[in-house]
Amino acid sequence: MTRSLTLLGATGSIGASTLDLVRRNPDQWQVEALTANGSVAELAALAREFGAKLAVVGDEACLPELRAALAGSGIAAAGGRQALCEAASRPVDMTVAAIVGCAGLGPVMAAIERGGTVALANKEALVSAGEVMMQAVARHGATLLPTDSEHNAIFQCLSGNRLSDVARITLTASGGPLRTWSAERLAAATPAEAVAHPNWSMGAKISVDSATMMNKGLEYIEAYHLFPVGLEKLAIVVHPQSVIHSMVEFRDRSTLAQLGPSDMRVPIASCLAWPQRMETPLAPLDLAAIGQLTFEQPNEALFPATRLAREAIAAGGGAPAILNAANEIAVAAFLAGQIRFTRIAAVVEETLARMNAAAPQTLEDVMALDTAARARAAEILETSALV
Ligand code: NAD
Ligand code: MG
Repeated sequence: MTRSLTLLGATGSIGASTLDLVRRNPDQWQVEALTANGSVAELAALAREFGAKLAVVGDEACLPELRAALAGSGIAAAGGRQALCEAASRPVDMTVAAIVGCAGLGPVMAAIERGGTVALANKEALVSAGEVMMQAVARHGATLLPTDSEHNAIFQCLSGNRLSDVARITLTASGGPLRTWSAERLAAATPAEAVAHPNWSMGAKISVDSATMMNKGLEYIEAYHLFPVGLEKLAIVVHPQSVIHSMVEFRDRSTLAQLGPSDMRVPIASCLAWPQRMETPLAPLDLAAIGQLTFEQPNEALFPATRLAREAIAAGGGAPAILNAANEIAVAAFLAGQIRFTRIAAVVEETLARMNAAAPQTLEDVMALDTAARARAAEILETSALV
């Protein structure tokens, strides 16, 4: 049976992994819409290859170029933030949400408000919108399939179990490429060093988040919303091999874990085929070759981001949206060579300390708070001695 698919963020790392699976099963998928921010040539080539009906660029200035690139193909072209939301609100069987950052929130909410099935990789959208998104999911009868590998692992472990039987959910963290570095070395870490992840190949922003451990902080907040067991039952453990993607312990002390290769095609396949299974081209897991699985406590003295995230979700209100926005600004500044690696968490902490926001009630509230927090973080970047 052919199913229709819209892929938000088609030119990114998750986008490429998703399209690799679609390419291997061409008769199972009909691509409705593909989106990107700029990357016009790449987007147009993908739209032609997959026979998409619509291609959208978030950056409206790129629209004339997209139109030209799609001339004669019969594929519709659109551009701008509103066009992304309109693309996401077209009826389809599956939406894969793989835009990076809070920029993806509007389109994700549009897909949810249509009551669709959404494979959610775009964790920043859920961290920012929190209850607003989860309430929309319930109100519109949408289905959220967690695509982030940890949350997909937890989702699989919970299958057939009751949330009320859960004693603890443990998110595993690789610790990132700088896990063993000293404070002095961390202060001098370059963007190239921070994005050189040992286990996963990912976009630049999430790679930096992985190095600072903010990725795990965002995932902790993401887990809080997806699996409402309460903060006291959420834990993080560092597991450098990235073989166990997360685990759930039940009240009888039985622990279920999901294991697999560190390749996002595994959790993406689990979402695309859900509630069934599909083939992936990956090699079988060879535990004897891996040899050892090890675990350690996160080092929050050197990597404070998980503490900041835990404090933000415990504080509630607008704190998680502020944390996310400040982090997006700080990571962009780090990647642009404007601040030191260790300033990223400091900028997030200062922004949180200087803002006080009530819990957003609507999508517009979340977006306004995101904009305000970005401005405040940018001010902090400008007015403090940085490099
Ligand atoms: P990426 O940078 O490789 O790709 C991002 C995509 O979003 C691109 O298609 C880009 O054109 C688009 N985009 C960027 N800014 C945009 C904007 N302002 N408006 C519209 N579109 C925009 O990122 P990625 O690594 O694929 O990550 C995507 C999301 O998935 C992130 O939220 C990330 O945290 C999450 N995620 C990624 C991985 C991974 O392995 N890469 C794993 C788990 C979760
Ligand atoms: Mg993850």
